[in-house]
Amino acid sequence: MFSKILIANRGEIAVRILRACREMGINTVAVYSEVDRDALHVSLADEGYCIGPPAAADSYLNQSAILTVAAAAGAEAIHPGYGLLSENAEFADLCRQCGIAFIGPAPEVIAKMGDKEEAKRTMQGACVPVIPGCGLVADLEEAEIRALEIGYPLLVKARAGGGGRGIRLVKTGGELKGAFLSASEEARSAFGDGGVYLEKYLDHVKHIEVQLLCDNFGNVVCLGERECSLQRKNQKLLEESPSPAICGDMRERLTEASVKAARAVGYTGAGTVEFLVDGEGAFYFMEMNTRLQVEHPVTEMVTGIDIVKWQIRIASGLPLDFTQSDVSLRGHSIECRINAENPAAGFRPGGGRVSLLHVPGGPWVRFDTALYQDYMVPPYYDSMIGKLIVHAGTRQEALRKMRAALCELTIEGVDCNRDFQLELLQSDAFQSGNYTTGFIKSGGLND
Ligand code: ADP
Ligand code: ADP
Ligand code: MG
Repeated sequence: MFSKILIANRGEIAVRILRACREMGINTVAVYSEVDRDALHVSLADEGYCIGPPAAADSYLNQSAILTVAAAAGAEAIHPGYGLLSENAEFADLCRQCGIAFIGPAPEVIAKMGDKEEAKRTMQGACVPVIPGCGLVADLEEAEIRALEIGYPLLVKARAGGGGRGIRLVKTGGELKGAFLSASEEARSAFGDGGVYLEKYLDHVKHIEVQLLCDNFGNVVCLGERECSLQRKNQKLLEESPSPAICGDMRERLTEASVKAARAVGYTGAGTVEFLVDGEGAFYFMEMNTRLQVEHPVTEMVTGIDIVKWQIRIASGLPLDFTQSDVSLRGHSIECRINAENPAAGFRPGGGRVSLLHVPGGPWVRFDTALYQDYMVPPYYDSMIGKLIVHAGTRQEALRKMRAALCELTIEGVDCNRDFQLELLQSDAFQSGNYTTGFIKSGGLND
């Protein structure tokens, strides 16, 4: 087992990983930007090093600075968290060259799955159903021809996209040009790659994803599914496990397809296969996230398995010590993402000083955050400042527990979406479980 790990991230996920390391008796190295000197992840780590100015591009994405710190501090492994460098194949490869373990799959696997268009082709080859569409389109002319073949409505999607970026809906031919250019441009500036492909737009579908753990000895275990259909602008807001819409037979079919997907690329570590599922029970592979996901806690709650600890154990070469038949899903878990944003002002993100913080407690209530009283939320990073997670015997009970916990959560000094989350919980669509990805904009709740 590793004796020292560097955490190449910040915020709640850096804290989450630090806690796992501490429990495992592993020393920790934090890296931070100039504005994060007083961040919680820095004070919880055994050592901390400043790696540059506030902008992530100059600090948390500065590969050579991070590797220099890792080497100097004697870290044997790097945990990238989510976002930032977590799906950067070049960085994973650099780690390998430096003799430092990257806690995630091999760089070749990240590259293959990180190109969403290539990933779809690979999955087709492995007989996993994919969303109908076409391969990379070279220019607008080709896009027009392919669009006619696919039919409207469709999506222009960036092959390098992530976090809901680089996706544009095209309802009619007249909108294609603008969508093609803006998706491509957004992807070029966000990911340095403007390549796009087209995909049939599926309406009234659910986003269902399957969590996997794969060790280096060919063992693949599935930890059930997560329902992530509550989204705003293609970004998840609230997640639950199990999905209220997935029955035992469907779960088996999704599991089988996910295991096939992982085996087809020789996947190792924790990974998530994302699907869209329609009202008839047909499902389509959308993408695979080759990293820890934001919403991993709901899976931890229903399985009792610590996903971060297993990521670390697998990267250090340990085999999974349980099999599929040992995994049982107990009860129901819900997560609400708490974002520093103002729903009344178009969800404008904002920072500020936390003048009052009260975190709900009680049995089976978990709040993953890097906030503390008087903490200054900097404006430079992702607006997610916390995740409220509850677990209960039934969905109804989990819902009531979440409502109570949200009501108790108090964050003053910084705008946040707590009341919007309460509204979502109380909506008929959410209560019934029959909600789909278009719910928020389709008038169920207007943003
Ligand atoms: P999850 O599926 O884990 O919920 P999200 O899509 O919400 O993931 O993204 C998690 C975090 O990572 C967000 O902060 C998002 O902005 C960021 N992110 C996701 N994909 C990328 C990417 N390709 N490049 C940069 N950041 C990304
Ligand atoms: P990202 O890499 O940004 O997470 P995804 O490909 O996973 O992008 O898509 C993000 C979200 O966009 C999905 O969860 C879903 O709500 C919506 N979406 C993506 N592809 C389609 C599609 N073909 N039809 C309808 N909705 C889609
Ligand atoms: Mg996705």
